[in-house]
Amino acid sequence: MSNPPDTAAAPAEPIPECPHCQKPMPLCICESVTPIENRLSLLILQHPQEQDRALGTARRLARHFADATVRVGLSWPSLSKALGRPVENASHWAVLYLGSARAADLEAEGEIVALNRKGEVAENQRAMLARLEGVVLLDGTWSQAKALWWRNPWMLKCQRVILNPAHPSRYGRLRREPRSDGLSTIEAAATILAGLERRPDIADTLHASFERLLTRYREVQAEMPELAPKPAPKGRRRDFRRRKRA
Ligand SMILES: [Zn+2]
Repeated sequence: MSNPPDTAAAPAEPIPECPHCQKPMPLCICESVTPIENRLSLLILQHPQEQDRALGTARRLARHFADATVRVGLSWPSLSKALGRPVENASHWAVLYLGSARAADLEAEGEIVALNRKGEVAENQRAMLARLEGVVLLDGTWSQAKALWWRNPWMLKCQRVILNPAHPSRYGRLRREPRSDGLSTIEAAATILAGLERRPDIADTLHASFERLLTRYREVQAEMPELAPKPAPKGRRRDFRRRKRA
């Protein structure tokens, strides 16, 4: 408490929000979005309590793609309803799964690992991954993503994939790991779409986009700390990891 905030100097007017990324305007980088034509459809389901507008990446991610949908909510009756258009075969969609299986423990090769219903490495990896038409990402903290999984039983008809990322998250110490694989939503999308579409340029574009977002965040943190709060203290990070492995 050595540095109490100077509330007397705080502006009375609320800071406007960008209608596209929903971030406070000083954090918005919507003026530069590199468009990506995607073959696989992308559906991002965001938990309604996902409050991290400053560092969240779901809307930024969706802005890049010609075919991407963001839905905020807890449950939908079917994949078609969540997506807003008919889906013929949900088994041609994959959910980035958050089960207890850790890719590193499964002795799987590659950054994208398909699981069978028992949570084991699927035998027909390549054929299954090659058939995919779309990917569902769950946006929120680990426990929020878990809630989305349990509240949407239609996901059981989809394939399950987990990631075995070659690089740690670029969030670094900015925030605790939001996903069981430790990646931000935009980084998870970069890995899975670049891998499935065999297009490294997708990963390059999304990683550059994420770096821009983090750079802007750090700049704003220096000037307007109330918009870009410091990360949670270390103790919380450790607690989170312990729970994750339990
Ligand atoms: Zn914006």
